[in-house]
Amino acid sequence: MARPKSSKQLILDNFLANRGKILESRDIQAASGGAVEWARRVRELRNEEGYQILPHKDRADLKPNQYLLETTKRTPALKRNISKETRAWVLERNGYTCQMCGVAAGDPDPLGSDRTVRLTMGHIIDKSKGGDDTPQNLRAICTNCNEGLQNTSLPKPDQIHLLAQVRRATIDDQKVLLKWLLQNFKRTVVE
Ligand SMILES: [Zn+2]
Repeated sequence: MARPKSSKQLILDNFLANRGKILESRDIQAASGGAVEWARRVRELRNEEGYQILPHKDRADLKPNQYLLETTKRTPALKRNISKETRAWVLERNGYTCQMCGVAAGDPDPLGSDRTVRLTMGHIIDKSKGGDDTPQNLRAICTNCNEGLQNTSLPKPDQIHLLAQVRRATIDDQKVLLKWLLQNFKRTVVE
């Protein structure tokens, strides 16, 4: 008897069968057999296996949550130009916090019930626009923001509102904040 297909294989089969058609995230998840981590599998197909599955941020005519595979041609296994050291340095500099939406590594994932936030490297100037893989052009981005799963990037809170929020918070929450600030400012690089 054949082995059951992995969710990644199911997702790939569905993309290949629908080449040139725009797929919605819910269709992809359904095709995967309901995998919770379908977005991660899509990312692996793209980054590790070289399938050119386009998310909306790479194609102006796609909406968030839409993906498109136009060609079965695969790019050579993606060059992993970003070294472990660079990654660690960038994460440290950004305080292990998504620079788009503000969630921190290990926070509960706002889009997934029992997952925690994972951070990845995002480019400040996109590679398609000439950005490179230097630490200066990299920032910590959560996987949701990286996949364009969150529609909007939150505006930075201004000082008055931020302070007002903190003053209204419970003493326990203020202590958590203080601890975080102290840890954060102990790090060597502050922007
Ligand atoms: Zn984020």
